[in-house]
Amino acid sequence: MTLRAMIDGVPGRTILHVDLDAFFAAVEQRDRPELRGRPVIVGGGPNDRGVVSTASYEARRFGVHSAMPLRTAGRLCPDGVFLPVDGRKYQAASRQVMAILRRFTPAVEQVSIDEAFLDVTGSEALFGDGPAIARRIKSAIQDETGLTASVGVATSKLVAKVASDLRKPDGLVVVEPGGEPGFLAPLSISRLWGVGEQTGRILGELGVRTIGELASIPAEVLVRRLGRHGAELRERALGIDREPVSGGEPAKSVSHEHTFDVDTADQEEIERTLLALSEGVSSRLRTAGIRAGTVGVKVRDATFRTVTRQRTLAEPTDLTEPIWRTALELARPETRGIRVRLLGVAATNLVDREQLGLFPEEDPRRRRAVQAADELRRRFGERAVTRARLLRRPLPEPFERDPRSAVEGRRGVRGVGQAAETGEKERATAGSDGRGSPVEGVDEPPAGEAPEPVDGDESEPEPERDPEP
Ligand SMILES: [Mg+2]
Repeated sequence: MTLRAMIDGVPGRTILHVDLDAFFAAVEQRDRPELRGRPVIVGGGPNDRGVVSTASYEARRFGVHSAMPLRTAGRLCPDGVFLPVDGRKYQAASRQVMAILRRFTPAVEQVSIDEAFLDVTGSEALFGDGPAIARRIKSAIQDETGLTASVGVATSKLVAKVASDLRKPDGLVVVEPGGEPGFLAPLSISRLWGVGEQTGRILGELGVRTIGELASIPAEVLVRRLGRHGAELRERALGIDREPVSGGEPAKSVSHEHTFDVDTADQEEIERTLLALSEGVSSRLRTAGIRAGTVGVKVRDATFRTVTRQRTLAEPTDLTEPIWRTALELARPETRGIRVRLLGVAATNLVDREQLGLFPEEDPRRRRAVQAADELRRRFGERAVTRARLLRRPLPEPFERDPRSAVEGRRGVRGVGQAAETGEKERATAGSDGRGSPVEGVDEPPAGEAPEPVDGDESEPEPERDPEP
């Protein structure tokens, strides 16, 4: 009987976490052999104002990592090969990989463009035990796509995720049932889901640095300091995570972001940009036939301090107006008196339009007008339909679409990505170089709700990332 079985009274599961290595860069190196062995940095040019999406392992040796400003990467790695993000190409590779995974189990939960959880508990009779399936998956991915993946095998999503991240690239880490607490014990608490800046600080005050130290703190102490979240954290520290692999789960968010060419304190420019971002988000929601129950904004200032705020709407929507209004209300207090570097608008808590019983129908004339605008946009391109307010001054372009969060693929509509959002990487972890400053104002995950898994190609958790593949 495994530890899990002893604790839960249920038999153990076999969960795999499959994570492609340096995905965007690896696709470029696969397709352009002359780039192999060279430092490849995907995200834009070394003088652009955006951030690095992916750095190849060769580039990481220069200290380049995801979410780092491209200009910093340019300084660290002047001979690097800087490439723009080719979302369509990565999406095609991603689809190919996900199709491979589905050969081994229908329970594939894609969490971003390049990673997925698999529950292979029911597949072991067919394909062998967890480690055997992991090896078959790794070689199928290698043979059929020319890419490498790292895989973690464990009894839960949490432990499988931590495991896949430990021996990148091309890693395979197996955590035997019952071995979870011992496996996790020496690792930093920052690897656990739900340890953000605030929680990390409180745990630091308790002298807790490692997961093992966390597990040894009496539950009542953690509950006193952290509430119910403390009890959950302690369970996680023991490797207990009951979250099921939800196969075929739809995308979790749609988001658009924009980095200003010059940091701005101009409220008018900020509001217009929020409108353009809201327009982009709502248009993608409509294309995908879904509505957002929650709207979020992200505001990053000139010092890289990043704030996110979100609000649940009275009723789900796919229209620009309510998304923009909410984004404005959320962003206004955060943008006052600061120079803004980056703005983002995200729609989360997504629901299918077909579940329409839930929606009181709005004015049908308004909906027809919106649909006509969408049709124009389809026929003549994104720029054909733009609100008068947006036309008053040139629009910031291009928007940085988060390639992980595209929902269009769900319905076979062409899109950059169909991956579920992995969360905005609001790991409140101070950047080692001081540039990736801690994320502020990020709410700890509410008690009882699992936080988004944190993507990670690195051996250490990173400051928040932007469009990480
Ligand atoms: Mg990856």
